Amino acid sequence: MRVFSFGHGPKTLTLPTLRVGALPLPLAGEGMKGHAHFMTTERKAPEYWLTDMDGVLVREDHALPGAAEFIARLIEKERPFLVLTNNSIFTPRDLAARLARSGLTVPESAIWTSALATADFLKLQKPRGSAFVIGEAGLTTALHEIGYTLTDHEADYVVVGETRTLSFSAITTAIRLVAAGARFIATNPDVTSPSPEGPLPATGSVAAMIAKATGAQPYFIGKPNPMMFRSAMNRIEARSEATVMIGDRMDTDVVAGIEAGLETILVLSGSTRAEQVARFPYRPSRILDSIADVVALI
Ligand SMILES: [Mg+2]
Repeated sequence: MRVFSFGHGPKTLTLPTLRVGALPLPLAGEGMKGHAHFMTTERKAPEYWLTDMDGVLVREDHALPGAAEFIARLIEKERPFLVLTNNSIFTPRDLAARLARSGLTVPESAIWTSALATADFLKLQKPRGSAFVIGEAGLTTALHEIGYTLTDHEADYVVVGETRTLSFSAITTAIRLVAAGARFIATNPDVTSPSPEGPLPATGSVAAMIAKATGAQPYFIGKPNPMMFRSAMNRIEARSEATVMIGDRMDTDVVAGIEAGLETILVLSGSTRAEQVARFPYRPSRILDSIADVVALI
């Protein structure tokens, strides 16, 4: 039996091997009182699949073991699925090409970014509106595709996404537009994004500069806002009770999945480590070592 330990000292809670198959898996919210409870019946395999990208399928441009089999199985079984990322720099086409280089064949139509979720939100809120954008092609393309006009004059919205080309004049324009009444939206709250050389300032940091200067707080669309999952589910016409979300972070993937009413799977191949799980006031439906262990659930 493989044992994961949760908690500290004498209160340490152990869970049995979290494998799929005959052995029942622990339920979210249970087993936290010092003794473990386990499911007595197996769940039905989810029909609809959402998965995070970084830390689940890829890490630093390399596919993680089992990721290719996972995607292939979803396609073979004709399960509707989307690969989600909070990164708003790239278009789905760019990301599909990047994934292909890392060894994963994911159709462009199966990629859902915080930029697409933001465009989806704006399309519902104010069809054919206007926006001043600080961001890259992933965001500007998404907004063009929903019929938005990009402008620096009397914009309905200031929309901030991840960028690698921040300019002082763009920040100045954003601040003046927000002060003049433009609604303030940001694709995702992440303050840094990882790179091989170290962290890079990300959307949340740029949005914070505008927030500080104006006193206005942005509305963040990406994870952990479950809005991101709701729009993804709309895209694949998924029902929440038959949908699972796979992620490597408790404070984004898992909490947003729970808030959206989804089954959740935490994989330990990325950000959250097994010993950190017990610190959170919520638990995923399942904890698995990696995406390789998810393949058998499809
Ligand atoms: Mg991740």
